[in-house]
Amino acid sequence: TGNEYLQLQNDLESNAKSYPVRFPLVIQKAKGMIITDTEGKQYYDCLAGAGTLALGHNHDVIIAAIRDVLDKQIPLHTLDLATPLKIAFIQEIFSILPKELRGHAKIQFCGPTGADGVEAAIKLVKNATKGKSILAFHGGYHGSTQATMSMSGNLSKKQHLQSLLPDVHFLPFPYEYRCPFGIGGGMTAQISIQYIENLLDDCESGIAAPCGVIIETVQGEGGAIPADIEWLRELRRITAERGIPLIIDEVQTGIGRTGKMFSFEHAGIIPDVIICSKAIGGSLPMSVMIYKEELDLWKPGAHTGTFRGNQLGMATGLATLKFIKENNVLDNVKERSDQLFEVLNRLKEKHEEIGDVRGRGLMIGVEIVDPQGNKDRLEHYPPNGELATKIQDRCFQNGLIIEVGGRRSAVLRFLPPLTITADETTKVLAIFEQSVVEAIE
Ligand code: PMP
Repeated sequence: TGNEYLQLQNDLESNAKSYPVRFPLVIQKAKGMIITDTEGKQYYDCLAGAGTLALGHNHDVIIAAIRDVLDKQIPLHTLDLATPLKIAFIQEIFSILPKELRGHAKIQFCGPTGADGVEAAIKLVKNATKGKSILAFHGGYHGSTQATMSMSGNLSKKQHLQSLLPDVHFLPFPYEYRCPFGIGGGMTAQISIQYIENLLDDCESGIAAPCGVIIETVQGEGGAIPADIEWLRELRRITAERGIPLIIDEVQTGIGRTGKMFSFEHAGIIPDVIICSKAIGGSLPMSVMIYKEELDLWKPGAHTGTFRGNQLGMATGLATLKFIKENNVLDNVKERSDQLFEVLNRLKEKHEEIGDVRGRGLMIGVEIVDPQGNKDRLEHYPPNGELATKIQDRCFQNGLIIEVGGRRSAVLRFLPPLTITADETTKVLAIFEQSVVEAIE
């Protein structure tokens, strides 16, 4: 039974497990956004493989793509050797790039995980620029390996771990709701960019020449915090002026999640390096970076890895990209996003415990606050992780899987498949509202 499986998992699997702590279920099968556990209970999946499952679970085109690889005897493992499938996948990726990059960019397969891509990107810009420091952002998340953790802002997860990269400097992210400068009124972005500019120009700021700036345009694990669009343009301007490569971590935001294929397109900027993972593998492990060709100063074999030829992942990734393009999935992202925002904002008006509703596309965060706590300088109540977890538990009981994130884990994060229907969105919102009410009572 489910309980026996859970007991075995607890007995045998590492204490470092994360999702099973919050979602004690054993999955029997899944299709679209519905997960069915071993007891036959069904859940709406608003976590979608932490943003990986752009088309939901086991979409027909994904299954067909896998069958096709098997039928054609395409080798499952090819190191980084070429296959016609690999070339087709690369061409499809180039076809969705902004025109400024097409013909002027290179792609590199980095291994199975997002962290592999981030590690590779840092090595790439270090090699190309000889810069010594890396600039990253408060509240950012880039992975769980030593180097990627060093660039993630969440100290609570790493403060006891030694030998993190010594040369990472953190910059203030334009988080309007809890402005790092304690000022409001739309000033956050302006002050934050001035601060960064001054820091880079001040020869006494203690920052060695940077090899790059790494950023998520919408912080995912950090609590679905979107960076101001004008601020992103300014960040591009000041990094371009100083010759500092801008690395956009699109691991979670990429491939349609925010309503555009790449999240930086909202700002109309062109990054120097783009890192993609999660959705680009169409459910299977895949990580790539795409970068301006002038950075391609590697020597052959300068960055290797055994698992850079996952043909199944290329087939499912290719099927995902084609499906998004041919079925107006980006329009659906915008419509479902509007639907979610409208109802969540209405909920916010009803409940003091909902402090903020924010995000971009289908990456939406609901920050839960404590109306009994002291207001901050911006007149906002403190984050309430305890209540957020309680709401999450109620959601789970009521058949909705939704993750928490952000400061003190106080943000409930909507990350559904990009193909979620209007009807499914309505049902998800109904369960959410009911769970909020139950948790507050
Ligand atoms: N970057 C971002 C923005 C992410 O959201 C994540 C994963 N949540 C990663 C990097 C790391 O990806 P992985 O867990 O596959 O290593």
